[in-house]
Amino acid sequence: MQKVKIPQTVDPTRSAAKRLDYDGILVPNSLERLTGLVEEILSDVDVYLSFYVDLQGLTVFEGNAGTAVKCICQRCGEPFTLDLNVDFKYTIDQKKIENLGLTVDYDFTDVNEFGEVDIYSIIEDELILAIPYAPMHPIDECLVDKADWVNGEIVEEKKSNPFTVLNQLKSRK
Ligand SMILES: [Zn+2]
Repeated sequence: MQKVKIPQTVDPTRSAAKRLDYDGILVPNSLERLTGLVEEILSDVDVYLSFYVDLQGLTVFEGNAGTAVKCICQRCGEPFTLDLNVDFKYTIDQKKIENLGLTVDYDFTDVNEFGEVDIYSIIEDELILAIPYAPMHPIDECLVDKADWVNGEIVEEKKSNPFTVLNQLKSRK
């Protein structure tokens, strides 16, 4: 069966009240920032999303997303396939949580002026954060000659790292 596209924006309050689940895909060309960070997004992003109100009355959505991207190995300079799989759990009720002093393990996100969240943007952030700081082949598949290694560290300084932007993102989170 062909998978449906996940809607870009969703009203979490309404979806949680109806206990809605989404099972579908995002197409790579809707993920501009991720596209800019990797060589290529190799497949549609499989997404599962579930909206509900939890036992503390908080509006929550959780789910997972998975795809594969082509990256350049920062050790040997050859392309390789990196699988990205992320699980996430968000609430839109940060204020309520702070006012009531609740302890939760959700990430926070805000709704826009229409009461909606941008699902694409959230999933794209999650996928970007899942990319390692310096993506590399597993060591046994890497093409760098083991003789170039000293104590597991490459001797030569690699050229500038295109993933520096990730560090900034990560420190924001
Ligand atoms: Zn490599």
